[in-house]
Amino acid sequence: MTFKVEPVRGFRDILPPESELMRIITKKFVDVVRSYGYSEVIPPTVELFELFATKSGPEISRSMYVFRDKAGREVCLRPELTASVVRMYIRSMLAEPKPVKVFYVGNAFRYEEPQLGRYREFYQMGVELIGDSSLYSDLELFLILRDYYKSLGLSEYSIKINDVGILRTLFTLWGVGEEVQDLILHYMDKKLYDEAVKILRGYSSADLKLFDEVTKVRTENPEELLETTKTLGMPEEAISRIKKLYEITSLMKALNVGNVIIDLSFARGLAYYTGLIFEVIVPNLNVSIGGGGRYDNLVELYGGPPTPSTGFALGVERTYLALKNLGLTDKLSSFDKVMLISLIDDYVYVDIIASTLRNAGYATSVRFTSKGKLGDVLGLASKKGYKYVVLIGEKELKSSKVTVKNLITKWQGELDVSELSRLGEH
Ligand code: AMP
Repeated sequence: MTFKVEPVRGFRDILPPESELMRIITKKFVDVVRSYGYSEVIPPTVELFELFATKSGPEISRSMYVFRDKAGREVCLRPELTASVVRMYIRSMLAEPKPVKVFYVGNAFRYEEPQLGRYREFYQMGVELIGDSSLYSDLELFLILRDYYKSLGLSEYSIKINDVGILRTLFTLWGVGEEVQDLILHYMDKKLYDEAVKILRGYSSADLKLFDEVTKVRTENPEELLETTKTLGMPEEAISRIKKLYEITSLMKALNVGNVIIDLSFARGLAYYTGLIFEVIVPNLNVSIGGGGRYDNLVELYGGPPTPSTGFALGVERTYLALKNLGLTDKLSSFDKVMLISLIDDYVYVDIIASTLRNAGYATSVRFTSKGKLGDVLGLASKKGYKYVVLIGEKELKSSKVTVKNLITKWQGELDVSELSRLGEH
């Protein structure tokens, strides 16, 4: 029997250097969110289907991996992690002082048409800020993004932003129920504007002209948002939301949070958003690398008390693609790799040298070889991107020294074992 070695369609084998870069991307995320006081939660991969059935939105509901387990439960592979975190919050964290600030890193599954940057299994890293409706809580998410992208060396990103509350306010005023609102926003997310209008035509009080004018507002200037919308004759509740959007986008600009694009036609796939929503976009990639927003009703929907909350999820693979397209991955992986080559079988001595190098922060890979094969091993070290070769032979063992070669500058010399932590000076 010939065995098929390809993974299942839409699933991927991730190998170095992508796998290593994905790890760095994730690690930097964890470092930044921890520095903001967020703690990790690890939700299960499998959840009851009903957790996602209501508020994931038609797109995600349709693309879920749903099946029955051996006991007949209708379960699914999580298509995202926010719903699980909210479930965990209601089950175990209600008594904690608010806001509760948590983060996660994990895989998610969606049966979508595979293409570049769209897979059936992918990794998300995200934060949830539960139990806070303040402007600062919205802003904090952007500050995290600012610091995170800075740590990756990524400056060319934009944040597309809107408040779904603006359109929802209008829809409610026009008598459109919540589920139909979700559907209209879904069409808008899919850029099926005509479908959205078609539904609104069914409501006699819907002001299609206002809908058209509002959804045309797109600007990078918060002042312009205020000016343009002033003349549209919007109801008071929508105006106060516009003012809040103005306030937050002005602060984002003052705090150097990326390039801000205000777009009042912008909607997102997940149906649980109630207020501010945003997506992170980068040049040369036509899919977002992250997204999030405010979901003030979700905790209540799942049976908890009213709890205003906000959060975001970033795609690990897409962050990698963005960095790769912009030529930024080399800088990220430039931690120094050392190949420790030993011509002697003294494992204790080799371990002392390797541990010294590792403790000094070098990724040290050990190889044993013979004099005759040394040339080949050196060639391999060069090809595999090692910066240093550290050589141990009989002579070095006797003198407590090692021979060092910098494969980039071609510097070569002998170092005392006690000098190994200063390898980087050569
Ligand atoms: P969402 O949960 O749809 O808001 O997605 C949040 C982020 O997850 C997106 O911005 C992407 O970076 C990532 N993402 C979503 N779906 C996929 C997918 N099918 N493949 C890879 N990344 C994805």
